[in-house]
Amino acid sequence: MEIRVEKTNQFKSLPDMSDVKFGTVFTDHMFIMDYHEDRGWYDPRIVPYGTLDLDPASVAFHYGQTVFEGLKAYRNQDDVYLFRPDENFKRLNNSSKRLCMPEFDEKLALEALKKLIRLEERWVPSKKDASLYIRPFIIADQSFLGVHPSNAYQFVIILSPVGPYYESGIDPVKIYVENKYVRAVPGGMGEAKSGGNYAVSLIGQVEAEAKGYSQVLWLDGIERKYIEEVGAMNIFFVIDDKIITPSLNGSILPGITRKSVIELLKTQGVEVEERRISIDEVSAAYDNGTLQEVFGTGTAAVISPVGELLYKDKKMIINDNKIGKVSQKLYDDLTDIQWHRKEGPAGWSIEVD
Ligand SMILES: *Cc1c(COP(=O)(O)O)cnc(C)c1O
Repeated sequence: MEIRVEKTNQFKSLPDMSDVKFGTVFTDHMFIMDYHEDRGWYDPRIVPYGTLDLDPASVAFHYGQTVFEGLKAYRNQDDVYLFRPDENFKRLNNSSKRLCMPEFDEKLALEALKKLIRLEERWVPSKKDASLYIRPFIIADQSFLGVHPSNAYQFVIILSPVGPYYESGIDPVKIYVENKYVRAVPGGMGEAKSGGNYAVSLIGQVEAEAKGYSQVLWLDGIERKYIEEVGAMNIFFVIDDKIITPSLNGSILPGITRKSVIELLKTQGVEVEERRISIDEVSAAYDNGTLQEVFGTGTAAVISPVGELLYKDKKMIINDNKIGKVSQKLYDDLTDIQWHRKEGPAGWSIEVD
């Protein structure tokens, strides 16, 4: 399929990257492709950035048939790189399958993304640690109020320049261990990247923020005992020199940063234990002094050290509220590969040429 291009004649001015807020500024163009069950995907196109034309009865508004992705483009001098974009498009298709949405051609999506970024190259920031955030998403747009998978969809990619996640050095986050609400249950859609998983988590997030915590650590939806993830990040523990992360159980989002951390450590001869880990085990390790580090992994922050965990009335201060050795090395190794300052495993850093 040919990707047609309709260029804007109204170019925006670039933002000052030292004070742009995450997800507030968008580039001049976007990618759109339509789907109808009688035609399949059709009319892939790059058009001026603007509003979407949606009937108020569109399925997405009422029954939440939406999926999305998040990845970044990184500038190194005159070159622009993507980090494992094939993994994002594969995961988008997996999310779609869970929500009865049609799969798309991952090669075409990557070609479209590269074409869009080439056109928007001036928007990939050169400021240190700033990047171009990429948000592909698919929404159901059949106008029909019956509860049934939509017969029509739009696949859209928008781009947003984002500043450094850490403005003044890597700052450990305070996390509230949630024991009232749950995010996902076995058999639900926790492993799909879908808006509904965020809608359900907002209340816990809001209540945690009111208590002075920046994020929520979710426990399993049945026993509220086993650790799942942090809502927009997966979680790792360093206990007694062993690195442990909850195994993917269907209700945890399979993060690409999580996967990259495990694979990267393996190439360095370090095995990560993927298994069930309970909050009680973490708490006991804290008590006997073997809880060395806790960190989250996700595209936005890459590695986010956790300085404090609050579980019920118990406050655990981790590694003196400072970033640990394992977290710092992973952050350095991953960002070096993402910005193409160092060669990573084959296929991880893809040039947009
Ligand atoms: C996107 C996401 C993550 C992190 O995934 P990455 O691919 O590493 O960015 C973790 N948890 C949830 C719920 C997410 O939506």
